[in-house]
Amino acid sequence: MNPPASGRTGSRLERPDQQGRFGEYGGMFAPETLMPALWQLADDFAEAWGDSGFVGRFHELLEKYTGRPTPLHAADHLSEEIGTRVLLKREDLAHTGAHKINNAIGQALLAKRTDKTRLIAETGAGQHGVATATAAAYTGLECVVYMGEKDIERQALNVSRMKMLGAEVVPVTSGAATLKDAVNEAMRDWVRTVETTHYIIGSVVGPHPFPWMVREFQKVIGEESVRQLQGEPVDVVVACVGGGSNAIGMFYPFAGREGVELVGVEAAGHGIETGRHGASIGAGSPGILHGARTYMLQDAEGQVLEAHSISAGLDYPGVGPEHAYFADTGLARYVSITDDEALEGVDLLSRTEGVIPALESAHAVAWVAKEADLLRDKTVLINLSGRGDKDMDMITARWDRV
Ligand SMILES: *Cc1c(COP(=O)(O)O)cnc(C)c1O
Repeated sequence: MNPPASGRTGSRLERPDQQGRFGEYGGMFAPETLMPALWQLADDFAEAWGDSGFVGRFHELLEKYTGRPTPLHAADHLSEEIGTRVLLKREDLAHTGAHKINNAIGQALLAKRTDKTRLIAETGAGQHGVATATAAAYTGLECVVYMGEKDIERQALNVSRMKMLGAEVVPVTSGAATLKDAVNEAMRDWVRTVETTHYIIGSVVGPHPFPWMVREFQKVIGEESVRQLQGEPVDVVVACVGGGSNAIGMFYPFAGREGVELVGVEAAGHGIETGRHGASIGAGSPGILHGARTYMLQDAEGQVLEAHSISAGLDYPGVGPEHAYFADTGLARYVSITDDEALEGVDLLSRTEGVIPALESAHAVAWVAKEADLLRDKTVLINLSGRGDKDMDMITARWDRV
């Protein structure tokens, strides 16, 4: 049964347990001052998620405001080119250009329901910041987004979008001035303001109840896919993994199904052997990061290492605890794709299907293309988590260098 003890989520055996653990992962490792707020949030979410009015409002907004259901598109031209039947779940067509809006809308509605007046968020590429600023504008809540100074430079377009939507963007200069530091800063804000403020974490990471709550808001991706398949069997389901929210949202209804293999694609960056990558499962080890026990990149002393990926959304030194559990139990398999391979994935999908994917999503495409021989005659479902507009500067900069 899902936590907390309200019992409204029914008696079906589900992850996480009452303590927010996925096997030995997850949990709630947070400052003392936040613990009551996190338990309260778990209770509030369980209550809302058991209320058909709330769930109905969430799904209505996903439909009328964000454009769900997103299409399931048979990528026939790509399929022909690589000799594998490929289906694309088109999260790139969701409002604001990625799956992140599902979660932002869900959490903003919850914040409204619990009388919060202010939303805060961390963002790396700015996609989650834009999704949160959008949900804040729609629901009429104040919005502050913490963003590493380095990311602010790299992602000028999304910074402008957030400002346009009425959000305040606060530059974070501590540490490496990227995503992990922005999370720390947002946590610090929340400790001070928890009475009035809801912190919208952008992935299935952080302390309980976030990994659970974000998965619940994102599982619409997989559930829609199952309906859209209309009984057609799939052999392999593939998604890129940063924190892991688009992947867990897609995997959720397929997990444990006979004959379906789940594959999460992490960022191999410059190559695993160079140490400059974002493969928390593939090349990390268990530790505690941002409030949860999970696989993470750390040195022998337990210091968090910098992640590296060409795609800001995969540039994170940890992963959601449910993925750690999936990896250990074999419910899913985790592989990795380098920056260069991901760029080839962008090119391949753009050329064959007329769809420019986000660099994150291109990791999933690239893995399928790379393993096409092994996947021959199989049906592969790829979660195309977002569109590539935000990455055009990065992509064209690479052209200029060759
Ligand atoms: C943020 C982002 C990701 C990575 O986040 P997950 O929580 O792993 O899904 C992947 N794709 C896109 C397009 C993103 O914006």
